[in-house]
Amino acid sequence: MKIYADHAATTKMSKAVIALMTECMENIYGNPSSLHGPGQRAAEVLAQAREKVAVLLGAEPGEIFFTSGGSEADNQAIRSAALSGKRKGKTHLISTEIEHHAVLHTLKKLEGEGFEVTLLPVYEDGIVRVEDVKAAIREDTALVSVMAANNEIGTIQPIKEIGALCREAGVIFHTDAVQAAGHIRIDVTKMNVDMLSLSAHKFGGPKGVGALYVKKGNPLFSLIEGGAQERGRRAGTENVPGIVGMAEAFSLAVEKLEEHKAYESGLRDALIAGLSKIPHARLNGDRIRRLPGNVNFCFEGIEGEALLLLLNEKGIAASSGSACASGSLNPSHVLLALGLPHEVAHGSLRLTLSAENRMEEVEVMIKEITGAVEYLRGISPVWEELEKGERDHVI
Ligand SMILES: *Cc1c(COP(=O)(O)O)cnc(C)c1O
Repeated sequence: MKIYADHAATTKMSKAVIALMTECMENIYGNPSSLHGPGQRAAEVLAQAREKVAVLLGAEPGEIFFTSGGSEADNQAIRSAALSGKRKGKTHLISTEIEHHAVLHTLKKLEGEGFEVTLLPVYEDGIVRVEDVKAAIREDTALVSVMAANNEIGTIQPIKEIGALCREAGVIFHTDAVQAAGHIRIDVTKMNVDMLSLSAHKFGGPKGVGALYVKKGNPLFSLIEGGAQERGRRAGTENVPGIVGMAEAFSLAVEKLEEHKAYESGLRDALIAGLSKIPHARLNGDRIRRLPGNVNFCFEGIEGEALLLLLNEKGIAASSGSACASGSLNPSHVLLALGLPHEVAHGSLRLTLSAENRMEEVEVMIKEITGAVEYLRGISPVWEELEKGERDHVI
């Protein structure tokens, strides 16, 4: 049995999305900037896709800017807020310890360019405290950026409350909603956000396309210079089929959101219950305030990479955390932010489910993971020390 349980890394496109994109590639070949018929047809489908994405977010079409993905949207949002802040003498930026690297590395760069960055803690449950945001905001704060849901541990952040706080303080509020969009309800007005990042391939759309919502009146500077596409904010001929696919995938995901949420959380809870029976195992991130399909565990005495390879041999595609972090031997910055010791943070396993997964797959995963953990502990010198009492259990 082949099981795909890595939907936070990327999702499979549905047949409907592929069909629509194929049709678009076959028939809508014009450049949306061209004044002739084929160009205008492309401009029309682009406008329709923009309208669709806007409606799904509770925004205006003029507030949607298409990008090459979530990373670009994050970079552009943060750099724009930082630059506009700097022009007013505001050079303080607030974010959290568990952001995606697209946010954290952009902030790191800005630190080198004279900005001061405060990264808020998330505590053991992986959730940012509204009071901490409030305490961190200063006269010279230009931006608060807090992700809507985390990509590793799936924790859902109090965006609406943080947004209200930022609005009151007159600080630009950005949220990376790449993991949240299409999985939990998003409404830019209710959430009090000024900017919001999306990525198509995390909700059944194509890779290499995303969007940035920017509330009217907020500054947006371009990262890429050239033509006047995206109202002069993002040069380059638009990825028309990608954008069309994104709008369709987002629409399908939102349409089925409640149904999928209920179904996926059922699978998730069964998987959590099954894996919790493994001794010295720990669920990472809040049990309740987490994405419907997210399961993240640490198993003491186990190397995450070894576990992944064993599971891969059994046909189970899982992850040890963020796709960008795996492959390196650094423990995840998210797990470290929860206060886990390095040796435990190394032994993590992330399983992210979708509506395509089945309960039988959950049962197979519980059985295979339990077996693999037992096997790896059997050959682990660390586990032997723990068993002999030469080392203390931390889980
Ligand atoms: C995947 C992801 C991104 C990056 O999106 P890309 O479209 O792959 O560039 C950013 N933030 C979060 C939370 C993500 O999960």
